[in-house]
Amino acid sequence: MAKNQKINTLLEKAINLDFLNHEEALFLYKNASLSKLLFTANQIREKLHPNNIVSYIIDRNINLTNICFSNCLFCNFCRNKNSDDAYVLSIKEYIEKIDVLKSLGGNQILLQGGMNPDLKLDFYLRLFKELKQIYPDLKLHALGPPEIAFIAKQEGISTKQCLELLINAGLDSLPGAGAEILSDRVRKIVSPAKASTEEWLKIMQEAHQLGLTSSATMMFGHLETLEERIEHFIKLRNVQEIKPKNSKGFISFTAWPVAGESTKLLKKFPKIKPITSTEFLKTLAMSRIILPNIPNIQVSWLTMGKEIAQLALHGGANDMSSIMIEENVVSQAGKNFKLGVKEMEETILQAGFIPKLRNQEYEYL
Ligand code: SF4
Repeated sequence: MAKNQKINTLLEKAINLDFLNHEEALFLYKNASLSKLLFTANQIREKLHPNNIVSYIIDRNINLTNICFSNCLFCNFCRNKNSDDAYVLSIKEYIEKIDVLKSLGGNQILLQGGMNPDLKLDFYLRLFKELKQIYPDLKLHALGPPEIAFIAKQEGISTKQCLELLINAGLDSLPGAGAEILSDRVRKIVSPAKASTEEWLKIMQEAHQLGLTSSATMMFGHLETLEERIEHFIKLRNVQEIKPKNSKGFISFTAWPVAGESTKLLKKFPKIKPITSTEFLKTLAMSRIILPNIPNIQVSWLTMGKEIAQLALHGGANDMSSIMIEENVVSQAGKNFKLGVKEMEETILQAGFIPKLRNQEYEYL
């Protein structure tokens, strides 16, 4: 089949929401023009979301500790327990942060941190219960497969048991953290102490079996090949295919380029070049094309900037992610946050869509 004809046939298949196999997806990634990929991804998005709505959420990222033994090459956040600036948040600090979030209209925290060997399962169970006692309607979008694997191993229990206990303590949904690229070849270099590909996927499957909504992510633009990006998508798609009918499974997918200028990763591999806007949009469009069974594709306006995010809304994305309240804007959070909401809504409107605030289950508020 001639190249152009093959591209058109495969794009047609994608628009019909059929699954592309690895070879087909790779062929498109390598050969289809950006405009064709964006157009096709937009068609799929219109099929899945005919309402012209672009959603966003107000939540707060709280990093519960920066002590972590993992030393991922791309991470500038983790500290040794004896570092001067090592910390574990106190309950008083949570309350201060959540009160700000509440006063600004949010009720979900994205609670993550390092893999701190001093924090055992009991610490998390007590923390979740205490937070839910103080704020009964607070949603805990917390931890991620690597932390679940780590906590379960320390405790000598299965990851499924660990998830069950955390759900009973108040865990509402599981972020897709620590996926990076789901290829052990890459993981062994960039994050060797973290959960393996198989563990990451197994924990997500278990979460779905337990009715926990989760999200899927990909951090790309480092050492992975195009083939490994496609494998990543297909592994997520396969897990989503076997989720129980009554579970939402992966409610969303987000891809972001690896960040940070002074990481060990860039020192060790100086040839890594920043992902261009074109490459980002192409990858986002490919995610929409390969993952028709994951309903929502997010674009992070904070990562790629407003203009690229607006373009992404015409190339597969239907969600603008979160207005995160950053640590450094807490003191003036009210003002900044309100500007943030206004700017978010204006950005969505300018792109030609209707902005809607949502919760983690993607229900409009
Ligand atoms: S697990 Fe990796 S990315 Fe997460 S805090 Fe530890 S070193 Fe950083």
